Amino acid sequence: MIPQLIADARKIVIKFGSNILADQDGRINPAFLNEYANEAAGFIRAGKHIVIVSSGAQAAGLSTMEKWARKADIHYKQALCAVGQVELMGAWRRAFEAHDLRIGQILLTQDDFGDPIRTLNMRNTLFTLVDEGIVPIINENDTVAVEEIKIGDNDTLAAQSAVLWSADLLILLSDIDGLYDKNPKGHPDAELVNEVRDIIQVRSQISTGGTNSFGTGGIATKLDAAQRVMSYGIPMILAHGGKPKALEALAAGTQRGTAFLV
Ligand code: ADP
Repeated sequence: MIPQLIADARKIVIKFGSNILADQDGRINPAFLNEYANEAAGFIRAGKHIVIVSSGAQAAGLSTMEKWARKADIHYKQALCAVGQVELMGAWRRAFEAHDLRIGQILLTQDDFGDPIRTLNMRNTLFTLVDEGIVPIINENDTVAVEEIKIGDNDTLAAQSAVLWSADLLILLSDIDGLYDKNPKGHPDAELVNEVRDIIQVRSQISTGGTNSFGTGGIATKLDAAQRVMSYGIPMILAHGGKPKALEALAAGTQRGTAFLV
């Protein structure tokens, strides 16, 4: 199913979680970005249109502002993201330049998605960039997004962006092979769910012991994202982004993942 979804999709939103862009020590690894840019460029050469949602500003900031690493103050965290966002985009720019591709930065907040004029502007900018062969890279605007008005996670941001751009497919690349019947970290017998057609039913079925597995980890926001895009007729793939040539392998059917089908 996954190779078919990718083959059929012309407009694809790909979201990279920060844990796959960063090394074990929490620093952005340019080699990873080069690899993903290489694969995205392959998709573009095959005639697909790509929008990227990239986390990692904080991790990139830490690489530059080491002395701020232990600052818990929210303003320092936002300042760290402001510094890191530049580093992150610099790394993406260099990664895509190797393929003669330019990138465009789009920073958004929750408020932007609630305002019809802003959403229209965002949509037009996205369409223009992509039409001109530029790869838009979206992230949350951490400088203005304080806790109360935060989208909060890039799974939701990616889903909202996919809907806004009328994408054909959303791919979330995480540090997990896909959706399991229980949290695989701590449950070695957890089994991968290959396909999801009824997201509501799946959410009610999958639990660990007495506690719902979706309360922990980041899987809840991934299912929220699936539910959101599926309600607009957009399928989603959740897969491991840390495997070699993950996008190509998914397209070729040599890497597994979970397909959320509409
Ligand atoms: P990312 O940073 O890529 O957004 P997260 O760490 O936020 O990823 O979310 C993925 C994590 O969700 C997995 O590493 C896993 O430990 C946890 N998780 C909890 N329950 C499940 C489940 N049923 N299936 C898959 N992952 C789960």
